[in-house]
Amino acid sequence: MRKHIFNAGPCKLSDPCLENTAKAILELNNSGQSILEVSHRSKDFEPIINEAVALFKEILNVPANYHVLFLGGGASTQFAMIPINFLKSKAAYVNTGTWSDKAIKEAKIFGKVEVIASSEDKNHTYYPKGFTIPTDVDYVHITSNNTIRGTEIFEDLKSPVPLIADMSSDIMSRQVDVSKYAMIYGGAQKNLGPAGVTFVIIRDDMLERVATDRPIPTMFRYDIHMKEDSMYNTPPCVNIFALNETLKWVKSQGGVKEMERRAIERATMLYAEIDRNSLFKSPVEVGSRSRMNIPFVWADGSEELTEKFMELAKSRKIVGIKGHRSVGGFRASTYNACTIDDVKALITCMQDFEKQVKG
Ligand code: PMP
Repeated sequence: MRKHIFNAGPCKLSDPCLENTAKAILELNNSGQSILEVSHRSKDFEPIINEAVALFKEILNVPANYHVLFLGGGASTQFAMIPINFLKSKAAYVNTGTWSDKAIKEAKIFGKVEVIASSEDKNHTYYPKGFTIPTDVDYVHITSNNTIRGTEIFEDLKSPVPLIADMSSDIMSRQVDVSKYAMIYGGAQKNLGPAGVTFVIIRDDMLERVATDRPIPTMFRYDIHMKEDSMYNTPPCVNIFALNETLKWVKSQGGVKEMERRAIERATMLYAEIDRNSLFKSPVEVGSRSRMNIPFVWADGSEELTEKFMELAKSRKIVGIKGHRSVGGFRASTYNACTIDDVKALITCMQDFEKQVKG
């Protein structure tokens, strides 16, 4: 029996994605070859990457003047690629926790960084709002969903400079106005597929902004990847196959609109239980609470109960709820493939544990 998977990424994927990828690993479309064996420059693979790009654009309503790229290296490589390509004098960053911290660290290698807003004062338990984006920077960078802290911004900011967003953990979970962004990127291993492929949605005019005053290794150049349609080097073929299967599944379910409705439903149910249950509380301010990563901690510091609760969860086939080491407590990641039944199983487990403890 499948477990109730709440992993933060890699995470639960849809059944059709798993089934069709498993089949393609054995044999791709009666080709006599596995998806692991076909050439990336063949009639077997090219339709797959082309379909993934087309579906990505269709589902997310990406305007015509954007490229969708599938690269290697994870979102972490983008932390460095963004400044090496676009940071000429100064860039603005919003600091909302671990992942934006890492992005800032990489940017500082290449130029000046102005942190224009930060949630550090309250241990990243909220998403800063109402900050002003300066006009004298090369770009502004945000992390739209903070996987570790469980904070999320639900609006698409209006920016006078190119807006770049790390959407690793909320892509395809809400309707986004892509036209507000110069670039959106992330690792696929949450809402899109297995780890090993990175998506980059990049506006065509960013090509002209690639720095000319420094040597940039070829693999780190966005203009090369745009010109070569993600085929400058061998792309991660099986990962792209699984990503395409996820996109087909998203479309068949009703697209991002339906993913958003489900995300709201799951998150509303789980936060209601966290707020109701006398044992637990949410460390995140109302209004900033992520729909994708839902941390909860002991209401009165009952750390000694952690192991017992984890044991009960394990007996109910619930996995992946251990909190990130920097936050403690628990975290349920409720990505697109997570079902209401998964969430109900967790809620029942929390209720039963409360009865056990409080009698
Ligand atoms: N940004 C965010 C918001 C993340 O959640 C993660 C990974 N969990 C990363 C960046 C880093 O991604 P990768 O492991 O693909 O480099």
